[in-house]
Amino acid sequence: MRYVIYLLILVYEVQCIPRNKNSVSVKGNVSNIDKCTNVLPEDLKEEIAEYQDIVNEILQYVIEGDFKGKTYDELAKFVDMFGPRPAGSEVLEDSIDYMIKLTNTQKLYDVVTEEVTVPQWKRGKEKIVMYEPRHKIIPVLGLGGSICTPPEGITAEVVVVKSFKDLENLKKHDVLGKILVFNSKFTAYDETVVYRYDAASRAAEKGAVAALIRSITPFSINSLHTGMMSYRENITNVPAAAITIEDAELLKRIYDRGVKIVLNIQMQSTRDTKISRNTLVDYKGIQNPEKLVIVSGHIDSWDIGQGAMDDGGGLFISWAVPVILRRLHLLPKRTIRSIFWTAEELGLIGAFAYEERHRNQSDNINFIMESDEGTFAPLGLSVAGNQEARCIIAEILKLFKSINASTLIEDDNPGSDITVIVKNGVPGASFYNANDRYFWYHHSESDTMTVQDSHVMDLGSAFWTAAAYIIADISVDIPR
Ligand SMILES: [Zn+2]
Repeated sequence: MRYVIYLLILVYEVQCIPRNKNSVSVKGNVSNIDKCTNVLPEDLKEEIAEYQDIVNEILQYVIEGDFKGKTYDELAKFVDMFGPRPAGSEVLEDSIDYMIKLTNTQKLYDVVTEEVTVPQWKRGKEKIVMYEPRHKIIPVLGLGGSICTPPEGITAEVVVVKSFKDLENLKKHDVLGKILVFNSKFTAYDETVVYRYDAASRAAEKGAVAALIRSITPFSINSLHTGMMSYRENITNVPAAAITIEDAELLKRIYDRGVKIVLNIQMQSTRDTKISRNTLVDYKGIQNPEKLVIVSGHIDSWDIGQGAMDDGGGLFISWAVPVILRRLHLLPKRTIRSIFWTAEELGLIGAFAYEERHRNQSDNINFIMESDEGTFAPLGLSVAGNQEARCIIAEILKLFKSINASTLIEDDNPGSDITVIVKNGVPGASFYNANDRYFWYHHSESDTMTVQDSHVMDLGSAFWTAAAYIIADISVDIPR
């Protein structure tokens, strides 16, 4: 009877999910509960239902008890002290040392780091001046990996397009020697971010000397958003940077009137290679310590803002998992490993290194979880795995009805860092949360502690901890 009630509730919740295109997590399908009918044996469902008391204990301890406010407070201390933590920087390494010490203060000593060679791209002076039709300073933020301009900058006329398709329709002599501005409106992140990655090569292909993109965000108060770009092989490399939505639209309006626009773009940066570290905190399983349930977030950030949301939030709810379990004396059968990935922003560098180093033990990863899409109110999990795996997770998620976090999204490619491991057939999940505003702050100066909320972070820590604990403790492995 209880099961029937749960079923009805889940069906109701599933029907009520808004499919917000701005949400990062909802790229898969919301699971249809009918798919799980008759998939799991009754005794497994009963076993999972018995974890309700432990879920309630964890929720109580974190939301109202001694851990209340702790995740937010520790994150605030961390990001206020270190600020942005770009890959290859000393401040990132100092922040890694800090996390090890902080973990030790919680009587967790099973902490190791693994060295990773990471690229460093260091921003220098950046400036755009509009010379024609009037003098104006245009705020600019170079894209990660972009080459420099000559010291005196690049001075050229502007062509504005709204899409790659628009660009294809232009003749090469229309673009040759000019600065190409892509005023591409944000639709969904996956659709729009191609302009950040590829604008420079597309522009250079047509003979442009630099590329400017409209910041990848659905909302702006004159805000600049950076992120990684890439150069295609055998195409001239040209500098690439982001401008605000407001300035992209200004340039478009002037251009559409047939008025000549001339800009001077100055961008400096340096490149290097450095050693960084992934950090692994193990909370040993009492029955099958060799089997792992991984929770994770990345410790590096972009070089602006505080990296409080991306990915300070994911880092700290993953840090909290072994801390909370130890304080509550909850000992899972399998080992819970909390990983703080390094150099995610420059191309999942830490995750690739981990995958390579641990490849021959990948059979031991029972389940892998990552939070890198915001730590707003928890809604559930975006899950990759076979049908049986998803049904087990769906059954576990029913225990989070009291905090409205029972939704399972079917997503074959959840997360960012963990995609490197999930692609090998390891079942995994990313944190599905109410992150509709995520891209307002993403990779910008506004990614600060002000985005975070103490109570909401408690909900996230409690949910993340209880979900990982049950997966690490149930009698069955998550099947592949
Ligand atoms: Zn991130």
